[in-house]
Amino acid sequence: MASKVLDHLKTVPELPETINNKKKRPKKVAWVDEDNCTGCQACVPFCPVDCIEPVPINKHQFPPIPPVHVRDNECIGCQICAKVCTKLTWDAIRMIDTDMYEERFDRTID
Ligand code: SF4
Ligand code: SF4
Repeated sequence: MASKVLDHLKTVPELPETINNKKKRPKKVAWVDEDNCTGCQACVPFCPVDCIEPVPINKHQFPPIPPVHVRDNECIGCQICAKVCTKLTWDAIRMIDTDMYEERFDRTID
């Protein structure tokens, strides 16, 4: 049992040593399914560009712990948050093709 847990944890991404900035338009953008997010914030420190944050309290009413969201124009599409969410907690982050993301959410990703 313990070795199975260790094997599982080996595939969890490393925490970033420094915070970077986006340099080019990514192929994919991370999107949090807020209805599925527990608000545990486990994914937050893993993001290499620090673009995941709790949904502001004025945009959120229930449940009492707000889900997180991604500041989409800062995301570099690395998929780390999606892996962390799946491996450590839940499965609330989807990586969406950038063109599709723009169309679906009426956003422009630089
Ligand atoms: S790890 Fe998953 S469930 Fe936890 S805050 Fe991040 S997206 Fe939500
Ligand atoms: S895909 Fe990478 S850059 Fe985008 S929110 Fe997730 S961890 Fe951050």
